[in-house]
Amino acid sequence: MDIAVVGGGAAGFFAAINVKENYPDAEVSIFEKSKEVLSKVKVSGGGRCNLTNGCSSIAELSEAYPRGGKALKRAFYSFDNKDTMKWFESRGVPLVVQEDGCVFPRSQDSQSVIECFLEQTRRLAISVELGRGVKAIDEINGKLHLTFVGGKSPARSFDKVIVASGGSPRRDGLLWLEKLHHKIEDPVPSLFTFKMPDEEVAELMGVVVEKTLVSIQGTKLKSDGPILFTHWGMSGPAILKLSALGARLLSDAGYIFKVQVNWTNLRNYDEVFAQLQRLCVEHGKKILSNVRPFALPERLWTHLIAKSGLPPAKKWGELGKSGVNGLARVLTNDVYEVNGRTHFREEFVTCGGVSLESIDFKTMQSKVCHNLYFAGEVMDIDGITGGYNFQAAWTTAFIAAKLK
Ligand SMILES: Cc1cc2nc3c(=O)[nH]c(=O)nc-3n(C[C@H](O)[C@H](O)[C@H](O)COP(=O)(O)OP(=O)(O)OC[C@H]3O[C@@H](n4cnc5c(N)ncnc54)[C@H](O)[C@@H]3O)c2cc1C
Repeated sequence: MDIAVVGGGAAGFFAAINVKENYPDAEVSIFEKSKEVLSKVKVSGGGRCNLTNGCSSIAELSEAYPRGGKALKRAFYSFDNKDTMKWFESRGVPLVVQEDGCVFPRSQDSQSVIECFLEQTRRLAISVELGRGVKAIDEINGKLHLTFVGGKSPARSFDKVIVASGGSPRRDGLLWLEKLHHKIEDPVPSLFTFKMPDEEVAELMGVVVEKTLVSIQGTKLKSDGPILFTHWGMSGPAILKLSALGARLLSDAGYIFKVQVNWTNLRNYDEVFAQLQRLCVEHGKKILSNVRPFALPERLWTHLIAKSGLPPAKKWGELGKSGVNGLARVLTNDVYEVNGRTHFREEFVTCGGVSLESIDFKTMQSKVCHNLYFAGEVMDIDGITGGYNFQAAWTTAFIAAKLK
């Protein structure tokens, strides 16, 4: 049996290795269009490769995917994050689980993952061909014919093909799969940070608030967690999660929208009001700027007092009901205008790709092209940050490699 894997990234290598372990007599070839394999693995997680997440249940794991979570939930029963950890550790890559759940090689170096893959491909005699971009797949007499970019390499036939070509930022990068009658969901970026050119946030650069509640005005999109101010706007896990949840909606809005932040981490306004009133009693003689509620960072508190319209030298005891209300409002519903996005430096993925409607998720086989399988980000699947995107690659590649 001749098997081709299109794409020498995370999903491609994982699929090829598993195919060869499942079918030792098969000839397995990986075709990679660039001159280098596993280039995203190399830079992933800031060069450390956050290869999965240590979360404890499949339900929790599948909630991390704004697109594809439901389909993945079933797939995780075949191969989940615990299987990932076993897979790598049993092949000589000891792992560590951080407090936030992110899982990294103990070496803190993505090269350990790359070396593991290269060693397995050598051991299993999997061929890896670089500079071999596949530009078309045709079904002829029950075989799949691969045509390569450049025209110099002759077309080749395979019994089965696994497409693991990763996310494409533009729809035309998926045309070769659309021509085979796969439905394509328009690609748009996910996991980006918010630009706020009209807000005075530069003075807040570097400020981090660990527990916030964030939402997008006029939508049901909300998230929680840490926010980091940058020189262009806002970043941090809560913002990245919101960008993933709203990837398509925010793209449609041209990245112009309003974000609302609750800096108190309390959902109940009355509770916030009551806490501020307590401060009025306990610190009545102190000025606003000298007593920071909810352990807010100093620069943010100064910014919020200004936003509430109150003088920073006003005493807590002189606030009155309307003053307390003003502070409670800005603390629980602080609005910022977003105009544009930037890439998060550590991780970004594509929302969109080959629609899951065109794929039988039990096998990862295409519903429209027999013997063609999919693995990884080429599909309309993407997760939030925290190792979830690689987990989707491992799980789908593991299932595709059964070639059922
Ligand atoms: C900077 C950065 C950091 C990241 N860090 C993390 C992280 O720490 N944890 C996490 O879970 N996720 C992370 N991600 C996301 C993660 O890297 C991807 O989700 C994952 O690499 C997807 O794997 P893949 O094999 O599907 O695609 P890719 O890794 O993109 O691999 C696809 C391969 O296919 C090749 N290819 C494409 N088209 C063709 C063709 N027609 N013919 C032949 N070859 C082709 C490409 O050149 C590429 O090598 C990060 C992403 C980025 C950009």
